[in-house]
Amino acid sequence: MEETRRKLVWVESENFQGWACNACAWAFNPLGPPVGQSLSEMMIHYERLRDSEFASHVCAEHPRGSKNLR
Ligand SMILES: [Zn+2]
Repeated sequence: MEETRRKLVWVESENFQGWACNACAWAFNPLGPPVGQSLSEMMIHYERLRDSEFASHVCAEHPRGSKNLR
């Protein structure tokens, strides 16, 4: 199961807009305001945070199918 090709995908639904995993229910929720001196710094910071959180999440811990989006 470790070999599953998971991908970061942009998701838009009624109650969520943002980056999520296509293989499980994980979604990226940035905490706090964007960090950076400029818009491009904020973007870089955001993308780094997103990528590292995505890389470190475990799909098995975010099973799909449960309707508890918490
Ligand atoms: Zn996942």
